[in-house]
Amino acid sequence: MGSNINQIQKITKNSKNKEIKTCDKCKKKAVINLAYGPHKFCEYHFNKFFENRFKKTIRKYKLIKSKEKILIALSGGKDSVTLLHLLNKFYKNSNTFSALIIDEGVKGYRDNAVKVAIDECKQNNVSYTVISFKEEFNITNDKIMPLILKNEKLGGTCAFCGTLRRNIMNKYAKKLNVDKIATGHNLDDEVQSFVMNVFNNDFKRLKRTGAEAGLIEHNGFVKRIKPLYLTPEKEIIAYCAFNNINHYSQACCPYSWTAKRNEYREMLNNFENRFPGTQFSIMRFNEKLKEELSPSEEKKRELKSKMKTCTICGEPTDKLICKTCEMIKTLKKENKTKKENKKNNSKKYNKKLTCYSTKYN
Ligand code: SF4
Ligand SMILES: [Zn+2]
Ligand SMILES: [Zn+2]
Repeated sequence: MGSNINQIQKITKNSKNKEIKTCDKCKKKAVINLAYGPHKFCEYHFNKFFENRFKKTIRKYKLIKSKEKILIALSGGKDSVTLLHLLNKFYKNSNTFSALIIDEGVKGYRDNAVKVAIDECKQNNVSYTVISFKEEFNITNDKIMPLILKNEKLGGTCAFCGTLRRNIMNKYAKKLNVDKIATGHNLDDEVQSFVMNVFNNDFKRLKRTGAEAGLIEHNGFVKRIKPLYLTPEKEIIAYCAFNNINHYSQACCPYSWTAKRNEYREMLNNFENRFPGTQFSIMRFNEKLKEELSPSEEKKRELKSKMKTCTICGEPTDKLICKTCEMIKTLKKENKTKKENKKNNSKKYNKKLTCYSTKYN
């Protein structure tokens, strides 16, 4: 897939507003139409609008303070590479950045994305560390996947992958002595997570979402921030195309069809196309809800006092063993017994829905 102007027009038009006329800010021909505004912009004014929102998000949620050391979780995909470019463009005089590149072990996919991520770090003069699931947990996604397909009780590949990745991020952020971890999560990701939590009745997880992830402050947890929290995914694709930002977009992870998230993305994209602004509405609702539900100082202290240290890896947890170590144990046991569950886990998924089909079509 290559990003070009046709693609940008395709992703930013909607059924009600197909025509692109002149820019709202100058007399030039508009090249992008943001139906939720509605806004029509030439390339220059779209870039300004996009970058201003990024800086405003950081100010509004007080995500970055001067002199803080920030570790960028870099996958090589459009979101994290855009984050790297923007942080480097606007904050490099006041802050120090480095990147953490995680290799989950997916042959023909992640290895290619890692190369792009390394290239981008070199181009932008940002130091980087590459950590793999293999060296950290002696497991790879390529190994996890067949086990999961054989036993539906294990859950989805993405759930494992995400937990293992967060464990590495937190552990290495402490090792590298940084103040915060910045991730490339965008508006679409956040809205999907919110709706998923509602559908799953997962109140605990719902309270943990936000521009700054996490509910409690604990010195075992490094704060995670999301400066692209208010930026729609399709605008990141457009920004990359307008600014020739090199990123890995040739393929999606071959296991992405196991992610329930694709169903939510598809559903929310349909709503957004028919009723522009839906995603921002959901996000605002989530913000109000979070404000109302924000735990008291007493509750925060109580949660903090319950935190222990994982007896295997030393990461913070409210149990004896953290979720990552528990997952690794289950997987290794599963691998040993090779017990085959009659139910085939792949049947519950819609294989046509991958992150590629729901993001770019
Ligand atoms: S699609 Fe799922 S399995 Fe693949 S890298 Fe993303 S979270 Fe991991
Ligand atoms: Zn203009
Ligand atoms: Zn652990």
